Amino acid sequence: MVRHARTCARDECCGLLLGRDGEIVEAVRARNIAGDPATRFLIDPIDHFAAIRTARARALDVVGFYHSHPHSAAEPSSRDVAEFDYPDSLYVIVSLRTEPADVRLFRFGSGNFQPVSFVTVA
Ligand SMILES: [Zn+2]
Repeated sequence: MVRHARTCARDECCGLLLGRDGEIVEAVRARNIAGDPATRFLIDPIDHFAAIRTARARALDVVGFYHSHPHSAAEPSSRDVAEFDYPDSLYVIVSLRTEPADVRLFRFGSGNFQPVSFVTVA
């Protein structure tokens, strides 16, 4: 995820998290098709469906999503809160604002993001 975020540099990257029983097994990249990718993300539905098929083939589920904040903190933006509508999904935000990158995990519930834990990745 951090590598993907760095690849996208100034734009937000995005992808899906595959796993089972709340455990993340793998992160799959997706294209960001937002019109203004520097400040938001919109997962390409083709990549979303491909990830669902990949998950099924491996007896996994899509358990959540990730995206990057190239210049802001690893906290959900007000837009993230407004546009997210997958209850009980896991949600990783990679912030490149600091070096090393800050990676935080949230669970979406009760209409908002609840922090689960955070980790710093070199
Ligand atoms: Zn965001």
